[in-house]
Amino acid sequence: MKTNHGVKEELTIVGGGPVGTLLALHLAKKGYSVDVFEKRGDPRSHMEPEGRSINLALSTRGLCALNEVGVNKQLLPHAVQMKGRLVHDKDARQHFIPYSPRADRLIYSITRMELNKVLLDEAAMNSNIRFHYNENCLGIDLKAQTILFQNMRSKLMHKRPLSITFGAEGMWSAIRTSLLRVPYTNFSQQHLDYDYKELTIPASQGHLLEKNALHLWPRGGHLMVALPNPDGSFTCTLFLPHEGERSFAHLKQQDAAVAFFQREFSDALPLMKDFFRQMIEYPVGRLTTVKIDPWSFQNKILLIGDAAHGIVPFYGQGLNCGFENCAFLSRCIDEHAGKWDLIFHAYEQGRRANTDAIAELSFDNFVELRERVSDPLFKLKSKLEGALEAAYPEEFLSKYSMVTFSCMPYTEALVKGRRQDQLLMEICKHITNVEEVDLQALKSKLSNSV
Ligand SMILES: Cc1cc2nc3c(=O)[nH]c(=O)nc-3n(C[C@H](O)[C@H](O)[C@H](O)COP(=O)(O)OP(=O)(O)OC[C@H]3O[C@@H](n4cnc5c(N)ncnc54)[C@H](O)[C@@H]3O)c2cc1C
Repeated sequence: MKTNHGVKEELTIVGGGPVGTLLALHLAKKGYSVDVFEKRGDPRSHMEPEGRSINLALSTRGLCALNEVGVNKQLLPHAVQMKGRLVHDKDARQHFIPYSPRADRLIYSITRMELNKVLLDEAAMNSNIRFHYNENCLGIDLKAQTILFQNMRSKLMHKRPLSITFGAEGMWSAIRTSLLRVPYTNFSQQHLDYDYKELTIPASQGHLLEKNALHLWPRGGHLMVALPNPDGSFTCTLFLPHEGERSFAHLKQQDAAVAFFQREFSDALPLMKDFFRQMIEYPVGRLTTVKIDPWSFQNKILLIGDAAHGIVPFYGQGLNCGFENCAFLSRCIDEHAGKWDLIFHAYEQGRRANTDAIAELSFDNFVELRERVSDPLFKLKSKLEGALEAAYPEEFLSKYSMVTFSCMPYTEALVKGRRQDQLLMEICKHITNVEEVDLQALKSKLSNSV
C-alpha cells in the first residue's frame, strides 16, 4: 500500500507505550508501513506488577489527538469523569472546587493499562502496523546506520538497518542516550527533590470516596492525590521529599509510617487495606524533567513523547502533550508531503517552545497543589474564576482551563494564564466575596491586559 503522497515507505517506532502506539495509528492511517519495537511483552496478555499502574488524567488535547484516529469512543467507557478537585483538609473536612461551571469541562481518569489496551487493539486491526514485543532497543549506531536490539526472552542481539525511526521509549530513552555524543547536542536532566509512590484504596461496594473527583491532600511540604477507577478503587499517588523525616526512606518502620499517615491523611488511612505492605513493597518513582536539543538527527531519527521532553506530572499533561505532538506531527507530514527533513524541522519549530512552556507550568502547579489550594485567598480566586466562566462561558478561560480544556498553544497559556492569575489574586486581596466584583468590568480589564 502506498502513502497519501504516493510512495511506499517503512517506518520504525521504538517504544510501544501510549505515544508510540498513537503515533503508529496516525502514520498507518496515511498508508505508511510501521514496525513497533517494544521492550515488554504484550500488556493485554499479562498483569502489571502492583504499584505500577499509574492513572492518567486525559483532557482536551489528548482526546482531540485520539479522536483524529477514531479511538475516543472505545476509550471513554473505561474512564471515570472528574469534575473538579476534592480537597481533604488535615482535620478531614472536605471541600470541592469544580474545574469549571461548564458541564463539558471535565477530565477523565483512566489507567495506563486500559489506555494501552484500547490503543493496541486498534493497532492490531490495522494491517499496516506490526508490533514486535520483548525487543529491547540498546541504541542507534549512526556510523553503521543500524539500530541494535536484544530480545528479552532469547537474549539474542540483532541489528536492523536504520530507516526513518521514532524514539518513543519514554523518559529513559535508549535512543536518546546513544545520541548524546552527537556534536552540538544539548541535554539536561533535572530531578525534583521529591519522590512518589502509588498506593491503592480498594473498592468496597463501589467507591469509598466521591467518585467523580480528583482527590487532593495538600500538606505544604508534601502531597497526596487520588484518581478514581471504574472498578471502584482509587489509585493514590503520594509525593514526599526525597530526604528528611518525611521521606520514603525514613518511613520504613511500621509505627512511623502509620503515625505519619494518621497525622497527615487521617481520613485516607482507614480506607487503605494493607497500607504498610504497600508502603514497603511498592516501588518509589523519581520525578524528572528531561530536555534534549535537537529532537531530530540526520533527518532520519525523531525523539517524541517523554523521550524528547519528560516533565513532572503536576498538570496531568505529560501524555496529553505527547498525544498532541502526534497530531501535530501528522499535520506536518501532510503539509510537507513526506519530505522528512522539512517535516522534522516544522515539527520541532512548532512544538519545542510549547513543551518548554508545559514543563514550566507543570512545575508551577506543584507549588499550587501542595500549598495553595487550601489557602483562603486561592479559594476565593477559584470562585472568582468560576463566576467569570459561568458569566462568559465562551470568552473567559482560567489558566487551568487554558491548559486543560483548550488546545491553545501552551506558550500562550503560560503567558496569559500567569498575567491573569496575578490580576485576579490582586483583586481577591481586596474583597471577601465574589459578589463584590463587577464581572463585566473585570472581563474587559482582563481582555485588555492579557
Ligand atoms: C506519577 C505520574 C503521573 C502522571 N499523570 C499524568 C496525567 O495525569 N496525565 C498525563 O497526561 N500525563 C501524566 N503523566 C505523564 C505520562 O505518564 C507520560 O507523559 C506518558 O506515559 C509518556 O508516554 P510515552 O509513550 O512517551 O512514554 P512511556 O509511557 O514511558 O512509554 C514508553 C514505552 O517504551 C518502552 N520502552 C522503554 N525503553 C525501551 C527500549 N529500550 N526498547 C524498547 N522499548 C522501550 C516501555 O516499555 C514503554 O512501553 C504522569 C507521569 C507520572 C510519573
